Formats: sequence, C-alpha cells, structure tokens
Amino acid sequence: MTDKRAKRIARLIDPLRVDPGAKVDLANDFDPGYRSDFLRKKDGVELLDTGIALLADYQARLAAEGTHGVLMCLQALDAGGKDGTIRHVMSGVNPQGVHVSGFKVPSAEELDHDYLWRYACRLPARGEIGIFNRSHYEEVLVVRVHPENLDRQKLPKASKGKNVWDRRYGEINDWERYLSHNGFKVVKIFLNLSKEEQRTRFLRRIDVPERNWKFSAADVRERRRWGDYQKAFSEMLSATSTKWAPWYVVPADRKWFARICVGAVLAHTLIEIDPRYPTVSDEARHNLGVVKRELEAEAPEGAAPDPYIAGRNGHQRRGSGKKAKKARV
Ligand code: AMP
Ligand code: MG
Repeated sequence: MTDKRAKRIARLIDPLRVDPGAKVDLANDFDPGYRSDFLRKKDGVELLDTGIALLADYQARLAAEGTHGVLMCLQALDAGGKDGTIRHVMSGVNPQGVHVSGFKVPSAEELDHDYLWRYACRLPARGEIGIFNRSHYEEVLVVRVHPENLDRQKLPKASKGKNVWDRRYGEINDWERYLSHNGFKVVKIFLNLSKEEQRTRFLRRIDVPERNWKFSAADVRERRRWGDYQKAFSEMLSATSTKWAPWYVVPADRKWFARICVGAVLAHTLIEIDPRYPTVSDEARHNLGVVKRELEAEAPEGAAPDPYIAGRNGHQRRGSGKKAKKARV
C-alpha cells in the first residue's frame, strides 16, 4: 500500500469522523449533500474501483492472518442507501470472508434474551468482515422513538427507568471496547440523508413498479417522526463515538459519494490493522523443501520436475496444448 493512497483515504474520511466526546447536533453539524472539493463523480467511479481492489487484497490478508476481525455497523433512516452501499462496496471481496446480517423487529426468541444477545450471535470470527445492516444501535433509536418496543423487551422494572438510554450507551461502549481489546475492530457508519432526498427516493419506490416492494406504509409513519429520529441520532453519535469504535457520518444524498466514503472507511480500518500473510519458520521452510524434492521426483517421463516453475519461466506445460484441445472435440 502506497503511503499516498493511505493518506488520500485518511483525508477523505477525516471530516466525517465524530470526535469522541463531541456534542453532535446532526442538522447543524453535518450536511447530507456534502462532497469533498477534490472529488468529482467522474473520478469517483474510478476511485471506487480502486478501493474495491484494495479491499479485496486486504481482506485476503485479514483471512490469512486470522487474528483480527472487523465489524462494520451501518445505520440510516429508510431509503438511506444501506443495501446498495453494501452491494457496491463489497462487490470485489471473497464472499467466504464476509457476513452480512440484517436486523429487523426482534423475534419472540430474541426478546427472551438480553438486548445485545442477537447481535453477539452474529459477530464476525477472526479473519472475517462482518457487516451489520442495522445493528445494536436500533436499541437506542427505534426503541427510543417508539417506547412500546422497550415494553416488549420484558425487562425488570428497575432496568427501564429514566436513565435507560444513558445506561445503554455505556453498555454498548463497554461491549465494543471489549471486542476491540480482543482483536475485533468495530467501525460505525451513519448514512446521513436529507428529508427532501428521502421524499424523492420514496416517490421513486412508489412510481417504479419494480421498486414497489421496497416501500412500506410504515416508512411514511417513521418519516413523520423525523425530528425525533434526528434527536435520537444526535444523542447516540455524541455518546457512542469512541477512540476504539468511532462513528462516521457519511453524507448520503449522493449515492456515488456515499459508496466511496463507506469503502474508504472500511479500507482505512483495514490499513490500520495492517494484516500480514503468515511467514513460515526456518524449520517449516526446510520441511517444504523436503516435500518439494519428493514431488519433483514423481514427475512422469517428459514432464518438468516442477511444472509451476516451468510455466512461470515461460515453458509450455504438458496438457495445455494440442491434447487438451483434442479432448474437447
Ligand atoms: P427494513 O430494514 O426496512 O426491512 O426494516 C426493518 C425494521 O425493523 C425497521 O423498521 C427497524 O426500525 C425495525 N427494527 C430493527 N431493530 C429493531 C429493534 N431492536 N426493535 C424494534 N424494531 C426494530
Ligand atoms: Mg425499510
């Protein structure tokens, strides 16, 4: 990774990070239509492609090293672009190393457990990237805006007093610190959509038949609570952006820009972890040499002792020429 590329990524995402301890007022502090002055849409496509290739390389190293895991939490209001962002940003990575988990209204079984249980069940393993499409932050967002959700959580009376939200912020911060101490980096993204852009996207979902399924009447009901959500988001961002698990507020009105930013945040996280392919000990290398000689000695008549090396050196490998073609006829 060139230092220049890493610096460019850092420069792009720096203004989006919520400083730990900062008091956020979403409407005043973050513009959903913002884009960096050094980026235009035409450069954006190219940058996203480069970013995707970079992610694929880092993911392969993360998996090979098997020490760290990454959890990226995506939060947004309806039509904020979570699904499309995941599709684009993760398009180049090996699906084996990525787990996307979506969270909806909790099931009866989930409600029988503590509120973090269902999220803990979906955490990535070492070497994996986990993506939460909605996350444990719903527990201080939709549950706060609609307190009847809290009533359904079967909590003892003493656990649902007035200070319940502050307590949850603290519990979430502690949980994320615990994960980070144990090798799992948590990074959180809020896709910040404007009310007008949400209106446009809702109308598109109504106007285009193939998109009708994406729209539900509940979405407009939630829209009527816009102010309550902005307040809940602002408080959540103020209380839970930490050194070990920072929040990034990504401007979401331009999809192309949001996708680049999300890719950049993930790339930055992986660059900081800097996973390496494991190297083998001298003894293991010696043993590899012994096995190599054994395999070379097995070469049939006329075959190169090591066809891989022979191929790399430009020689034609047996079976790749006429014979292979004939067999297909
Ligand atoms: P969607 O992601 O649009 O399919 O919708 C999922 C719905 O589940 C959203 O309306 C969320 O607000 C809701 N949801 C997610 N987590 C929770 C939760 N912990 N409690 C109540 N509702 C939730
Ligand atoms: Mg929805």
